[in-house]
Amino acid sequence: MKWPLVRSLAARLIVSHLIVGVVSVGLIASIAGRFIMESGRREVENIYEDIAFLMSNDLEAPLINLAEGLGINPDEIKRVIGQDLGGRQGVNFDVFLTDGTLVVTSQPVVETSRSIPPEVTSALHEPDALDIRANSNGEETFYIAVPIAHQNVIYGVLRLSSTFKENLAPTYRAIYLLGIISFLILIGVVVGSWWFSHTISLPIRNLTLAAGRLSNGELESRAMPQGPQELYQFASTFNQMAGQLQNNMEGLRAFVANASHELRTPLTAIKLHVDALAEGAISEPEVAERFLAQLQDEIERMSRTINDLLDLSRIEANRGMVLMEEVDLKEILLETRDFWRARSQQAGLDLRLSLPLAVPVVIGNEDQLRRVFNNLVDNAIKNTPSGGWAEISLFNLPQRGMVRIEVRDNGRGISAEHLPRIFERFYRAEVDHERKTTGSGLGLAIAKSIIETHNGKIGVSSVIGVGSTFWVELKLPPSGPNERKNA
Ligand code: ADP
Repeated sequence: MKWPLVRSLAARLIVSHLIVGVVSVGLIASIAGRFIMESGRREVENIYEDIAFLMSNDLEAPLINLAEGLGINPDEIKRVIGQDLGGRQGVNFDVFLTDGTLVVTSQPVVETSRSIPPEVTSALHEPDALDIRANSNGEETFYIAVPIAHQNVIYGVLRLSSTFKENLAPTYRAIYLLGIISFLILIGVVVGSWWFSHTISLPIRNLTLAAGRLSNGELESRAMPQGPQELYQFASTFNQMAGQLQNNMEGLRAFVANASHELRTPLTAIKLHVDALAEGAISEPEVAERFLAQLQDEIERMSRTINDLLDLSRIEANRGMVLMEEVDLKEILLETRDFWRARSQQAGLDLRLSLPLAVPVVIGNEDQLRRVFNNLVDNAIKNTPSGGWAEISLFNLPQRGMVRIEVRDNGRGISAEHLPRIFERFYRAEVDHERKTTGSGLGLAIAKSIIETHNGKIGVSSVIGVGSTFWVELKLPPSGPNERKNA
């Protein structure tokens, strides 16, 4: 709460990148700066060392003259030194004799009382001597002293001195450049981290907005897939999920609307009949009997619809949890045929069963599979006029690892416009006024749901006025068909 800005992902990414950037750029710049400074100073020392050696050679003759009592011409020495310095500014020089006497100096005032500088003393024993210290103005100054010798005899010492400040202009320029480069890199880090955090936080923000809209009931809300691969994938998956949710919700709404309609229609009929009875129809025995029979029909219809609805929701809720065991298809199909035989005879239909010699055993739920075949045969009988036929057949499809069961009839068929929706809940192909003769409109939806639970397939082909073929394909167990001979 103390740092509300740093609570956002974008801010955290920027801040963490900045910290890493500043620390690493700072570290690299300071190491590089130190290195540049050190080499600059060494370079300056080397240059002046070379100059000092050159001068010491040129000063041999004047000092030998002095040692041999020929006197000394300070102007001549200054001229030689000036020549060797080649116009360099800010360089001081002193020439000492071996006893420490200062014979020539570039300084305006000769401090005679001054003690012999340490580098001059050192130069009497070493090829060169270097000392770095602050000058009288407090500026860091280097002092280089070299002996002036001829044939191993030292006649004096030449000392050059200059402030680093005076000589390090190129080094300072390099450090300044380094500073500018570091600054530009830092700006690059800021821009880069902003861009990076933006590419991550923007898709997340869009996803959050889309999820918010979805949770507010805007089911058509989608997130635009963007950003890094993972977030792109996330948005696509989110959209798939939203699509699925939208479909489910729309399906649910339609289902609730259909279910209410299906229940309200018989309920209205019941109410009308009961009202009529209450208003006096009950006193007319003939009318009362008719109304009661109709009431019975409507109540039966309602209870069938409710039972089918409950079954359907139970099948869907128990998906994956239903007991699966070896099911003998031959036995089930024989039972189905026997169960519907009387009904089909009543309807004037010929109900046939055609099985191959070997009928496989499948893995499934016996009650549910029986329910599927019952629904299909029931439909065939209901939708085939008297004099027609219905046939249950089984085909082995070993090359596809499947067994196929077909329920065919030569009934009224289903028109192409209805076929794609025939497995939907409450969908009926017949016109409304024929409703009375049909069931709940859930039979095929239940069959489809059961077959999907079995990882199988269900389908239909039909020609209006010619007949229909409903088919079910079930997987054979992986160990190969476990067959029962058709006795
Ligand atoms: P219902 O309880 O109305 O039979 P179903 O879900 O079992 O509900 O069937 C849906 C619709 O499919 C039926 O109302 C009917 O119009 C059509 N239908 C099903 N089977 C056949 C068939 N064998 N021949 C013609 N139409 C059929």
